[in-house]
Amino acid sequence: MKGKLLVIGFGPGDEKHITGRAKEAIQESDIIIGYKTYVDLIKGLITGKQIISTGMTEEVSRAQEAVKQAELGYTVAVISSGDAGVYGMAGLVYEVLIEKGWKKDSGVEVEVVPGISAINSCAALLGAPVMHDACTISLSDHLTPWSLIEKRIEAAAQADFVIALYNPKSGRRTRQIMEAQKILLKYRSPDTPVGLVKSAFRDSQKIVLTNLQEMLEHEIGMLTTVLIGNSSTFFYDGLIITPRGYQRKYTLNQAIQPLKPHQRLQKAAEPWALEQMEDVTPVNKKLVTPTSVKESPRELAEEALQMILGENDGPSQGLMVKQDFQSIFEVAVSPGVANKKFTATQMVILSEIVGEEGVMEYTQDHYMKLQILTSKPDEIVEKLTAANFLIAPVGDVLTVKACDFCDGEKKDSIPYADELQERLGGMELPKELKLGVNGCGMACYGAVKEDIGIVYRKGAFDLFLGAKTAGRTAHPGQIVAEGIAPDQIVGVIEGIVQEYKQKAYPNERFYKFFKRVKEVQGFVYQDITPNLKIEAAVCGE
Ligand code: SAH
Repeated sequence: MKGKLLVIGFGPGDEKHITGRAKEAIQESDIIIGYKTYVDLIKGLITGKQIISTGMTEEVSRAQEAVKQAELGYTVAVISSGDAGVYGMAGLVYEVLIEKGWKKDSGVEVEVVPGISAINSCAALLGAPVMHDACTISLSDHLTPWSLIEKRIEAAAQADFVIALYNPKSGRRTRQIMEAQKILLKYRSPDTPVGLVKSAFRDSQKIVLTNLQEMLEHEIGMLTTVLIGNSSTFFYDGLIITPRGYQRKYTLNQAIQPLKPHQRLQKAAEPWALEQMEDVTPVNKKLVTPTSVKESPRELAEEALQMILGENDGPSQGLMVKQDFQSIFEVAVSPGVANKKFTATQMVILSEIVGEEGVMEYTQDHYMKLQILTSKPDEIVEKLTAANFLIAPVGDVLTVKACDFCDGEKKDSIPYADELQERLGGMELPKELKLGVNGCGMACYGAVKEDIGIVYRKGAFDLFLGAKTAGRTAHPGQIVAEGIAPDQIVGVIEGIVQEYKQKAYPNERFYKFFKRVKEVQGFVYQDITPNLKIEAAVCGE
């Protein structure tokens, strides 16, 4: 009669995180073999079993004993913490079997029972630090040459993997973690979030949030897993979070801003996708380098070599270069709120800043939208400001669209447009919002067609709310007040915008919001939708 080998990962250490199959497998077995500490951890589950517990370093003899007992006809459980296939006993058991000429069909039956590995249990305690491409690296050099471990750390660091360091340190192995830190700091910022989790889900559990620079100032031991974030990982309220993707943009006033979940999954937000690599708008083309636009394997190899060696430096220098993460910097640029005239000098400066690679797009919102791939948005902002441009963020923000007040002839309302721009321009909102300001009753710049519109007439402002600016059901805003005194208009608009900011659903346009809440700052919505049913049409139809 042939026995059975059950190679079981029992998870981080508490009973709740042992899988159902692992518990069942332990019940099924006649003999339990494992490292003493592990056997103690799951003592509650093993009654009436023969237990063979050995010391930590006796892994090989444990595996051999297990195979021997299985060959004698017993059902044997070999237990590992976490997952048995992650620096655990599974591989070793197979190696011992193979050495004896074991074959799957004719030899003893083997079942590997998966368990929750430290990378997963520790990540759960820290928040969501893994989330994206990640790897595990064991710093134990007992069975692996240190030179290989070094190479793996280097490669993982360079490729921006989230890294879980197992076996980071023991009584005798204390230098490895210092060397690892040194390599990581070549590629990652010193303030990269790091989580130290000791004895996850065990009585002595301890969690420390630190960063790459300071991590060695905390206790790290045999029972610690060191989780190192990637270049996008951030701290939030005592947690470590790695966003799902790299979709991020620079916007004004905020160095790097990850895209909000609802902004993702749009083609425009993923210029680096394989499918879009053929789309050769300059910014896209830049973004997909280094690999995708290279023609032959040789070119690819040469470029990789260049990256390692550095452009002009020797080999050691080249590797020391920190990754310089570029993102698209988007900014709205115009000559002014009530000024539509670019000077020749300004045009020259724009063309210099945008260059061959960037994109400059004239929009219907009275500004030029620039998209420039850069790691230094501040320098661009400085140059634009020096050229007297009005700059504003792009996206779900408030944009003031004023007429040019007929070259200033009707200039009385210009100060109010400027003040509105200063107070509200660029404010982040649930959805983009255009505020139209017209300087006379002709309203030829179409203020009544914007989300919020004000028209200066007879020394006071008329207020229009809730235009639907696009689509076959487009309509102007409803006139909700006439003759608002100039010294009150800024306050009124500010109140409306604040209420929208606080109460609107994410992504809810102003006209929908107005229709839903029926009243904003005392201005009441009137249902003027025609009864006629209009068929919905999507873009391109
Ligand atoms: N098979 C195990 C790993 C064994 S190697 C697994 O899949 O999790 C031992 C290393 O695992 C330790 O040095 C530590 O880095 C990590 N580890 C195992 N259990 C842990 C726990 N409960 N909390 C934190 N780290 C743990």
